[in-house]
Amino acid sequence: MRHIAIVGSGPAGYYTAEAAQKHWGDDVSIDVFDMLPVPYGLIRFGVAPDHQSIKGVSRRYEKTALNENVHFIGNVAIGRDISVAELQEFYDAVIFATGAPNDRSLGLEGEDLANVFGSAAFVGWYNGHPQFADLDPDLSTKHVVVIGMGNVALDVARILAKTEAEFEGADIVAHALETLRGSQIEKITILGRRGPHQIMMTPKELGELGALERASPRVDKADLPDEAEDALLEPGLRKSVTHLRSFAAIPEDMHAEKAIEIEFDMFASPVRFTGADRVESILVERTKVEAGRAIATGETYEIPAGMVVSCIGYRTSPIPDVPFDERAGRFANDEGRILPGIYCVGWARRGPSGTIGTNRPDGYDVIEKVAEDLDSGILGRKGKTGREGFDALASERNLDVVRFRDWKKIEEAEEQAAREGAPREKFVDIEAMIRASR
Ligand code: NAP
Repeated sequence: MRHIAIVGSGPAGYYTAEAAQKHWGDDVSIDVFDMLPVPYGLIRFGVAPDHQSIKGVSRRYEKTALNENVHFIGNVAIGRDISVAELQEFYDAVIFATGAPNDRSLGLEGEDLANVFGSAAFVGWYNGHPQFADLDPDLSTKHVVVIGMGNVALDVARILAKTEAEFEGADIVAHALETLRGSQIEKITILGRRGPHQIMMTPKELGELGALERASPRVDKADLPDEAEDALLEPGLRKSVTHLRSFAAIPEDMHAEKAIEIEFDMFASPVRFTGADRVESILVERTKVEAGRAIATGETYEIPAGMVVSCIGYRTSPIPDVPFDERAGRFANDEGRILPGIYCVGWARRGPSGTIGTNRPDGYDVIEKVAEDLDSGILGRKGKTGREGFDALASERNLDVVRFRDWKKIEEAEEQAAREGAPREKFVDIEAMIRASR
């Protein structure tokens, strides 16, 4: 029997569990750890609350989780409650699928002013992540700036722009809905340091901005390259650029009908944030794009901003004794191998890019590597104790472990607490989750 520990219960974690199960069948025991009492990571805390169809993928993870040889071990943090060395005593392989839950910082003056947030914090807030439930953003401002031109910037802009009715069927948490109800926002600027041909936004997600009840997207025609140049783009990006072109063609009277404007300010790089108690404006520098790179022009201007959400990417959390690549913000690894018996997968391996589905081949790939190493004998002795060893240590340390059946009780309580039409009302603090699990 092989014993595999997977740290992280998001997409990368469960695809890896699925791959291990397929590879070893009944001859493997797989424990999926999470520091929170609830599974699914990015699906629960990252995917936008109004994108329920994407969240549906968790049913596939549940199918894996319910296999007899797969166990969820929630509310246990590796590196805090139990060390990596201890885990290695029990398991043949330890695979980190911990994602990239921390904000990458811009490193700019004024970034620590009140009402300047990173997207991990802001998205975590509206998705009910216990770490960010108390973020308390102040939406009593007319002008918000969202930095970055990726799908996370789109999520943030869309959530800020939606009416309450547009959250029907969404699992946005009550505290966020309440704050959004009092929003005074009239303008959301999406700030991009490069141009239309360099956006990271995918067509379906960008298209949603054009169909909002009270907001209209504005693109300056002058920012768009000659249409003939679109032919050279890969098809997805070409489609996204077509959306930008249709936004640029929206007539003024149609903009005037909407209460909120979502303005794309491209070729503009943030320089510093200013404000007294909280952020009031951003100084940006005009750029031009040469050979795909943003080049500063020296020309600067100020944009009013009572709130800023920086959506420029994420970093993995380091774990004691696991080599970390500081510059890249993820574990130092060679295609998933960190040290003998220690691996990483998903965003913790390759950084925050790609779709949820990208993690599936990643999971299968890392299991191939684990199997290769086990077969070659480089991982040492057989006969590790797996969960039995872990359980003994957990009870010695009084760890309050949440199992999958306990999670099902949390899930049921969340479903029962849902407001009408919503799938669930999430618990936003760990204590409440644990109470519901008992
Ligand atoms: P992303 O796609 O990498 O976009 C990051 C954006 O931030 C880019 O426009 C980048 O510009 C900009 N940026 C980076 N550093 C900057 C700086 N110092 N100053 C100004 N701008 C800066 O990342 P993301 O939006 O966080 O998304 C992460 C991943 O999750 C992506 O693969 C995304 O597609 C995925 N995702 C998917 C969905 C969905 O499918 N519905 C939703 C959310 C997220 P440059 O290009 O110039 O560097």
